[in-house]
Amino acid sequence: MRGKKLTSLLLVGVLCFGMVFTSHASSASEAKKEAKEAKEKAAKAKEKSKELKEQKQQAETEKQSIAVQLDTLLAEISEMEEKIYNKEQEIIQKEDELIQARVDENDQYESMKKRIKYMYENGNGQFVEILFEAKDLSDFLNKTEYISSISDYDRDMLIQYQKIVKEVEEQEAALQKEQEEMEGMQNELIEKQGSLEALLASKESEIAGLKEELSANAERVKKLEAAAKAAADAARKKAEAEAAAKEAAARAEAAKKNAAVSGGGSDQIVVSGNGTFTHPCPGYTRISSSFGYRTAPLRGASTNHKGTDFAAPTGTPIYAAAGGTVTSARYSGNAGNMIVINHGGGLQTYYMHCSRIFVSAGTKVAKGQNIGAVGTTGNSTGPHLHFQVMSNGTPVNAMNYL
Ligand SMILES: [Zn+2]
Repeated sequence: MRGKKLTSLLLVGVLCFGMVFTSHASSASEAKKEAKEAKEKAAKAKEKSKELKEQKQQAETEKQSIAVQLDTLLAEISEMEEKIYNKEQEIIQKEDELIQARVDENDQYESMKKRIKYMYENGNGQFVEILFEAKDLSDFLNKTEYISSISDYDRDMLIQYQKIVKEVEEQEAALQKEQEEMEGMQNELIEKQGSLEALLASKESEIAGLKEELSANAERVKKLEAAAKAAADAARKKAEAEAAAKEAAARAEAAKKNAAVSGGGSDQIVVSGNGTFTHPCPGYTRISSSFGYRTAPLRGASTNHKGTDFAAPTGTPIYAAAGGTVTSARYSGNAGNMIVINHGGGLQTYYMHCSRIFVSAGTKVAKGQNIGAVGTTGNSTGPHLHFQVMSNGTPVNAMNYL
């Protein structure tokens, strides 16, 4: 069951492949044109393959460049990440500084408040002592100024601490601003990474598409080249057939010229044996009269028989003993319808008493070509072929040549 299925699948495949080339040409020249077109189609498909390969190469180069850009960008991103981290550390440190500055400010403020309160509200032995130690008003005022300068010192210290707090706050804000800028830059880089990654993916899919197209086109090239070859073969066969038909028509035309006896004859070449000559009537080997002296010749015939008579029914095809040129093909008295072929090298063959002649003087014949049919024309008692071989103008025994 499975084998059967596989066989039918194979058959479908073969049929499909066979359908790639179907010739509609009615003449050899049309077939030649078709073959040329098929060849051009195949060449075009091949050209397309070349283009696709170039496109793929370019896409791969582009992809490579995008990958390099992406690598550079990723390095930048990681560098930026480190910078942001370092900035974060600076900010944390600055925050610690700020806390400390605020503590310092607060301590100063609290101790200053305590001192002023102690000095002015509750009084103080030392404070009173200093004032009472004054020698005069001027000294008293000097001492008061001294106390006042102590509180001035406290106030200056406070202002100093406040200034530090403000500076640290400003520094922290500056750091935070820098960090924000860095984060903005980092976001831009990440965005760029996203678009580069998308570009890379699209290049990859482009390459994959081109790969697929390339392999499909390669398949097409293979089919078109097979079709072109089939078309070329068909054109060649058609040209050969046309040439053969032309030759056959010419042969038929030549045979027609032999008006009285011409017409018919087979195109089939019949060669038998391996002698110099093929048998002119293969299958009819019974000799009714052999070469040389004979006792009871027909009235008017020679006692010295110049040929060999093969008995065969009227219409039996006669084949040329060898290739050559017909030198005579006509009715000739005693011989009846006679064909003479010159084979060259001093050899000639005669075929007498034919009922029909398919060749004419001047016709070139091939060994085994059907040149006539057995009959009993001329001086003959019944249907037979008188086959005669002439060597340099002298009759010789035909049997030595078969
Ligand atoms: Zn004879």
